[in-house]
Amino acid sequence: MQDERYDVIVIGSGPGGATMAAKLAETGKRILLVERGDYLKREKANWDTDAVFRKGRYQAEETWVSSDGASFRPGLHYFVGGNSKVYGAVLFRLREEDFHGTRHPDGIAPEWCVKYDEFEPYYQAAEEFFEVRGRRGEDPTEPWSRKPYKHPPIRHEPRIQKLADDLQREGLQPFHLPMGGLLDQDETGEATPTSPLLRCDPFDGYPSLTNGKADAQVIAVDPALKRHPNLTLLKRAYVERLVTDAGGRSVAGLDVVIEGARHRLAADLVVVACGALSSALLLLRSGRDGDARGLANGSGLVGRNYMRHNNATVLAISKEPNPTEFQKTLGLNDFYFGHEKSPANDWEFPLGHIQMVGKSDGTQIEAEGLPAFLQWFPNRPFEWLAKHSIDFWLTSEDLPRPENRIFYRDGQVHLDLTETNQEGHRRLRQKLRDICDKAGIHPHLMDRTLYLGKDTPIGGTAHQAGTLVFGEDPATSVLDRNCKAHELDNLYVTDASFFPSIGAVNPTLTIIANALRVADIIAKRLGAAPFEVTDARAMGAT
Ligand SMILES: Cc1cc2nc3c(=O)[nH]c(=O)nc-3n(C[C@H](O)[C@H](O)[C@H](O)COP(=O)(O)OP(=O)(O)OC[C@H]3O[C@@H](n4cnc5c(N)ncnc54)[C@H](O)[C@@H]3O)c2cc1C
Repeated sequence: MQDERYDVIVIGSGPGGATMAAKLAETGKRILLVERGDYLKREKANWDTDAVFRKGRYQAEETWVSSDGASFRPGLHYFVGGNSKVYGAVLFRLREEDFHGTRHPDGIAPEWCVKYDEFEPYYQAAEEFFEVRGRRGEDPTEPWSRKPYKHPPIRHEPRIQKLADDLQREGLQPFHLPMGGLLDQDETGEATPTSPLLRCDPFDGYPSLTNGKADAQVIAVDPALKRHPNLTLLKRAYVERLVTDAGGRSVAGLDVVIEGARHRLAADLVVVACGALSSALLLLRSGRDGDARGLANGSGLVGRNYMRHNNATVLAISKEPNPTEFQKTLGLNDFYFGHEKSPANDWEFPLGHIQMVGKSDGTQIEAEGLPAFLQWFPNRPFEWLAKHSIDFWLTSEDLPRPENRIFYRDGQVHLDLTETNQEGHRRLRQKLRDICDKAGIHPHLMDRTLYLGKDTPIGGTAHQAGTLVFGEDPATSVLDRNCKAHELDNLYVTDASFFPSIGAVNPTLTIIANALRVADIIAKRLGAAPFEVTDARAMGAT
């Protein structure tokens, strides 16, 4: 191990790192993918609500501290495939407008130094790589694209189709969610006998027992390992710190802990993709001679500008039972922009995005704690509520603030977070209430927080972003437009830490698209032929 030298070492096997490793493996160069976790075991408990949500079976055993001094368990998952092992696989492009700076009452969500037009071919390739199912032309906010989705959308079941029809009658434009769910459907929308994904409840927030989710392990890591002998996966290997050369301008090695023993690995180029929070921590641990400012931190921004969306999972209790099995098929963006561009939004500022979330069950509702009045019912009606609920996920944009940051103090990880743009999120919730009222759903909305981990809000780290922002100016950014650290000539980052702003749609497709973009840049640097970004099938997807 000590003598090994690679062309490229990629740290972290979530969507950002796995995409990078799979793509670079095509160059024939020696690529090492280092992952602190192991394969997530396929077992009955994958689909057990109590194990997954209440007991946090797959959640990292870590304790961090929030700004009020309280300790919490972050919603992180250390496995081959990273957090995508449990993600909901809704794979959206950011809206074209998100790249240009968005005005909110609390401030402006900053513009990106690389705009949508440059990302577009990589979004297309990312959608094909991660097998996204969807239909163009339904979502009123979707950005331009040069091709349709390769796969048709996952069909609504009858209750959700009725909801779509009701929403349309109200003048809204519901659409099929773009999903990386590997559902092969027959003409009625049922899963075919060989479909990896079944139409069954445990999807959103659960690992997939049938490998039916387009996660980074199933889509990128395993096929690339099979295809490319020049790619090696080193799992259960924790990268403790990056070590620089004498001049401090290059990463000369990585200190990696494997089964308690420390090893030194080396490569010409290093790509960090540990997830936005863990990547910042790695750089903070890597200061020369123990410098607490860490590595690549001349701007002082390493770990700062943390964003994670204003999220809420909300149950609306319907008059009719909701027998839907695979509920996560419908989205609504009629309130995404301010009034001028989204006329259904009567406010001048953006509200955000609404999508369905996986169907609740009685165990989840019981674990949440019911609204107080229900505690008095003799047979507390968890199952009844679950059978009658329609479950929504609301996302509004939050703003990068330097004081929202991850850092070490006395060896403990601290995460400071003051929420922004709460008014837009409150109004989005009210819009949902109005919609439910009109669609004959009881307007009583109950919060469900377990999807993001018990300790929401601070423990809800699912959509972490912004902690190593990219930009043209080294004084105001950590990474350059190629996602290379300004201060180091061989260190790249390809998770969501480069995001200057986060929009209000799920972040992962942008992480994948950016990893493809940066992989192209690195491949050229390695002297490999440029990739054909529109032919993503060749990259190892099943
Ligand atoms: C419950 C849930 C639902 C979600 N649903 C959606 C959704 O529907 N759509 C969407 O777009 N996004 C969703 N997300 C977010 C999505 O999972 C993340 O955006 C995505 O996984 C980020 O990819 P990444 O590669 O940047 O980081 P990660 O997936 O976090 O992967 C980072 C990897 O690095 C490894 N690592 C960390 N530190 C080290 C170290 N020091 N040494 C070695 N390895 C290390 C970790 O173990 C991990 O495997 C969801 C997340 C959760 C938790």
